[in-house]
Amino acid sequence: MKLFIDIGGTHLRSELQMPGGVISENVSSQEYDLVSFIEKKLELYPFITFIGISYAGQIYKGEILSAPNIALKEPRIKEYFESRYDLRLEIDNDLNCAAMAESAYFKSDSLLALYVGTGIGSAFIDNGRLVRGSKNMAFEIGHIPYKQTPFVCGCKKTNCLELYASASGLEKRMKHFNMPILSFAELENSQDEQKSALALDFKEALLFATATLITLTNPRIVVFGGGVIEHNPQILEYLKKNLEGQAFSGSLHGVSLHISSLENGAMSGAKLLEENSYE
Ligand SMILES: [Zn+2]
Repeated sequence: MKLFIDIGGTHLRSELQMPGGVISENVSSQEYDLVSFIEKKLELYPFITFIGISYAGQIYKGEILSAPNIALKEPRIKEYFESRYDLRLEIDNDLNCAAMAESAYFKSDSLLALYVGTGIGSAFIDNGRLVRGSKNMAFEIGHIPYKQTPFVCGCKKTNCLELYASASGLEKRMKHFNMPILSFAELENSQDEQKSALALDFKEALLFATATLITLTNPRIVVFGGGVIEHNPQILEYLKKNLEGQAFSGSLHGVSLHISSLENGAMSGAKLLEENSYE
């Protein structure tokens, strides 16, 4: 049996693969702790031999270094489970997982994945390999300095791009302006200038992120995923219309932009960790 998990700031999704089929589950990651969740599964299904986890945080060699949007009990999660149970556990950053899955889907060895959900993240595959950085933290686009805000990011800074271009950032801004919590589409279509301005700020921040990443990485394919983009495909049209003059023209030429076709790219990537784990 194999257990695959995708955990972000909102959901903890799991798929248990067993001979008779697959059991899928979706619970709140704010209510369920990852370690307790896995321990409970192992109690019910002691024959799990592999666990693959896509995690919305910084991961280095089986250890969770930081998790801006998720409560954390046991950072050395690989060692914790492998020393207590007869199984193998692999865990990687959710965007790294998504980029691996997108690269397999597009059969492309030059691909940038940019996902916008609770947070915003990116990962880059160059020549068929993930560009990881020395501690597996490359392309943390959500935490580059963008504009000063009165709020604090999950990483403790107050000027992160994620505070503008993410669902959690939008929520912080709506609360700051004492607005009801609205969806991106409701903000964008609102007649109220203050509300539609938040949607425009979001799109401009995402345009900045996209132009910066295309200029820095020179990919062949850019794939956008995550809840906010998948529910609002009009955002891609905005980006396509406005990238010129923002991204370096040499890098922009020939690049193709897509919305993800995968149901859950991060989860698909978790399933690739058995073969593609980071050593
Ligand atoms: Zn941050």
